Amino acid sequence: MSGQLIVVSNRIPTAATPSGGLVYALHETLRKTGGIWIGSDPDLRPHASKSLKEIGDQSNYRRLAFELTQEDYDTFYLGFANSVLWPVCHRRGDLVQISRRYEKGYRRVNRHLAEQIMKVAEPDDLIWVHDYHFFPLALELRALGFTGKLGFFLHIPFPALGDLGALPPTADLARWLAAFDLVGLQTRSDVARCLELFRSEFGAELMNDGKIKYGEQRIAVRSFPIGIDVEAFVDAASQELDDTGIARALPRELVIGVDRLDYSKGLPNRFRAFGRFLEMRTDKSRRPSLLQIAPPTREEVSAYRDIRHELEELSGRVNGENADLDWTPVRYIHRNIDRNVLAKLFRKARVGLVTPFADGMNLVAKEYIAAQDPDDPGVLVLSRMAGAAEEMTQALQVNPYDIEEMSEALARALDMPLDERKRRYASCMERVKATDVAHWSETYLKALSASRDKMSWSNFNAEARSDA
Ligand code: ADP
Repeated sequence: MSGQLIVVSNRIPTAATPSGGLVYALHETLRKTGGIWIGSDPDLRPHASKSLKEIGDQSNYRRLAFELTQEDYDTFYLGFANSVLWPVCHRRGDLVQISRRYEKGYRRVNRHLAEQIMKVAEPDDLIWVHDYHFFPLALELRALGFTGKLGFFLHIPFPALGDLGALPPTADLARWLAAFDLVGLQTRSDVARCLELFRSEFGAELMNDGKIKYGEQRIAVRSFPIGIDVEAFVDAASQELDDTGIARALPRELVIGVDRLDYSKGLPNRFRAFGRFLEMRTDKSRRPSLLQIAPPTREEVSAYRDIRHELEELSGRVNGENADLDWTPVRYIHRNIDRNVLAKLFRKARVGLVTPFADGMNLVAKEYIAAQDPDDPGVLVLSRMAGAAEEMTQALQVNPYDIEEMSEALARALDMPLDERKRRYASCMERVKATDVAHWSETYLKALSASRDKMSWSNFNAEARSDA
């Protein structure tokens, strides 16, 4: 790498040593390479500053924050990012809320952020942009004359061509993406959908080297399946659960689900499938419990409030129909749990239920596998719609819309002989190790560094400006 690395993501770690998959991985990467990490300031301001603000000391790299006003937060973050792009990418066009205000806010925040980045970036720096909050950021940076390498990684599913119709016409995903040198996606299916978009674009051409030629630009589109910090998770899971209160309260047959409370995670169907399984079981002396940990997120968006109510009602119903004085079939917890405790809960659970309708990767699937005891592993029941399903072919894969199939998979997982459990675990664990998070960031950055020789962006700048 000739210049420095600049990472841009919506969230930026505030702790000196951040915990948690992606944030930890990027922290480790920047600790090695040095550079800058730019993210949004969580405190909203009446007037957003026009310059990035230095936040705290960090080992070997700088952390800079851009400020947002309440209007920015409402339109850019809650509005366009989470009420338009998120549902479109997760195949929920019915939940899209179109508003000109949202579009304007999204473009404005991206433009202002580009202006602020230009004050700290040098021409040969390498900028790595993360996620759907910043689709147009490269276009804005090119318009301001940035000529260095620009990479993008989308953590959520790439939308199918048919679903893109739910976006407003000004959201020109192909042109936004074409301003990057490298577009990184989670899976091969995401790459196929992205190529489908470019194929449908007038003037886009697939080159022999696999890149896309779009006007003057050459864009590489590749999959880089994200992973977890395997060693840290294995270590955390192997410690004894020292809170004996928790350990005592856990049933022998524990089924676990851990997700943000998001409509893409398929939680109502998971509860229905668990209820169906209880209803169908022939041996009524068996009393498994589903422990669902699902802290609420984005509650200002109405679809997120709706899912919370639906789940409360469903868990009440399953418990009402099945519970006994000494048995609660569904335990539904609404808060964040310490990652070390989470790892140990995963290890205790006979079954991990990961059943999203759509998911970029789903790190919980990888965490559940990493946490298992190799001599007595539990079974992962995994939705075919999760990105992780492409790699973890030995999980029990299910259709998250099919309640019967999920209920049967649950029964099969709880009864699975040790030999089969070990075999399936070993295969999944091999993939989890092969695609750990350090491997992910290293391979991405290597590909970005090699993505192109210097080229002129002059035509491109004129086009981008006319749109800004
Ligand atoms: P998403 O990024 O859509 O939330 P992922 O499964 O890819 O889904 O990642 C979620 C991450 O958040 C995982 O690392 C998981 O362990 C963590 N997480 C989810 N729910 C909780 C919780 N209740 N407490 C602590 N960590 C959680």
